[in-house]
Amino acid sequence: MWSAVDVETWVSRRTSRLDEVHGPVQEIIGKVKSGGDAALIELSEKFDKVHLDSVAVDEDAREAAYDQVDAKVTECLVEAEARISRFHELQLPRGLWLSEVEPGITLGVKTTPLSRVGAYVPGGRAAYPSTALMCTIPARIAGVPEICCCSPPPIQPLTLVALDIAGVEEIYQCGGAQAIAAMALGTESIEPVEKIVGPGNVYVTAAKMLLREYAEIDFPAGPSEIAVIADENAVPSYVAADILAQAEHDPHAACVLITTSAAFADEVGAEIKKQAENAPRKEIMAQALKNSGYILAGDLDEAVAISNAVAPEHLSIQVADPLPVLGGIRNAGSIFVGPYTPVACGDYASGTNHVLPTAGYARQYSGLNVHHFCKTSSVQMLSREGLESIGDIIETLATAEGLAAHAQSVDVRLRSAKPDCKAP
Ligand code: NAD
Repeated sequence: MWSAVDVETWVSRRTSRLDEVHGPVQEIIGKVKSGGDAALIELSEKFDKVHLDSVAVDEDAREAAYDQVDAKVTECLVEAEARISRFHELQLPRGLWLSEVEPGITLGVKTTPLSRVGAYVPGGRAAYPSTALMCTIPARIAGVPEICCCSPPPIQPLTLVALDIAGVEEIYQCGGAQAIAAMALGTESIEPVEKIVGPGNVYVTAAKMLLREYAEIDFPAGPSEIAVIADENAVPSYVAADILAQAEHDPHAACVLITTSAAFADEVGAEIKKQAENAPRKEIMAQALKNSGYILAGDLDEAVAISNAVAPEHLSIQVADPLPVLGGIRNAGSIFVGPYTPVACGDYASGTNHVLPTAGYARQYSGLNVHHFCKTSSVQMLSREGLESIGDIIETLATAEGLAAHAQSVDVRLRSAKPDCKAP
């Protein structure tokens, strides 16, 4: 169950399986395109075994959800909301900055939130109120005026309470590929959005990838992963617990320990066996552990290189001197440093976001953050003096490209009969 693997073997075990569902997902997208709300209701009956009169969730249902949720859980969701908001507020870019880079030439960037985004909160096999917070708070902090959310029917009271705490009012009970199609294409009830974020199963992820022509997406987020870089100073029971915490997510989850010590890898294996024995989700763990194992590295530099090749969703660093290791990391969705930082901190309550790229996509994508909900426009403002200082460069290059009107747009100003024309 717990054995050595090489990087290629581990990477090949975490396949995304998206290709396998392209056919059925295309069919669902087609149905939503032609049938709108009626198709959503029909597909909910088919896949969720739920009959809906309407996909929209009204305010009464949101209020009633509080009665079905343990008061302590609601309290913790409020605490988590505050911490997630605090961290994401720190990421807010300046609305506008301008800088005079040379006399008469002022350049800058104007940042604008997207106008309307959609968050998908999974709900097929479990309730994910923490994901409801993670997907919507960064959008709210970015200043997105319209945030809608879809989650499979019957929508879980926990999800409704979390969305209410996050301040989301537009909620639909609608799951899977049909929810993504509804948000991307629009239906009678759901206005199309500019961007869709949030994790989900293979149908959700395939629909997000196929509908990018209509709505931008965050990134593909599939089954969970963890890589742990540990040396012989780490505590085997902590490392084993972190591995099992990912393994319990999904039979397709994949976990890898990258260590400099074979003896330590064996100790972790023994701990995994011990801790998994009585775990409530031991069957799921057993499946996920088949996709898992350890890789022996000659030293920590090699461990870092292996981790960068793996590009894990979660990276835990449990070594005596973690900061040099952290410095070498290039590819990881979210990084957890030291023995007292289990990944669960970032899943729920420290404030960082748990919606992260999987399957090696950490190479080119960042985990969900405020910037996913903003776009930028560059700004420039030149005085006559500024234009004079670069006019010759522009005219020469425009002429070389055969674009005479470009050159003329400069020339007409510099040879203007109105040299005192008002400039900022
Ligand atoms: P889900 O909400 O993603 O999917 C449920 C929907 O799938 C259903 O509403 C149904 O419409 C559709 N579906 C089910 N079977 C289908 C079929 N045969 N054909 C077409 N559509 C079908 O919920 P889930 O299935 O429980 O998956 C949630 C996933 O999200 C898990 O892999 C979980 O680990 C992951 N997750 C990730 C994060 C994260 O932040 N990375 C957070 C929470 C959950």
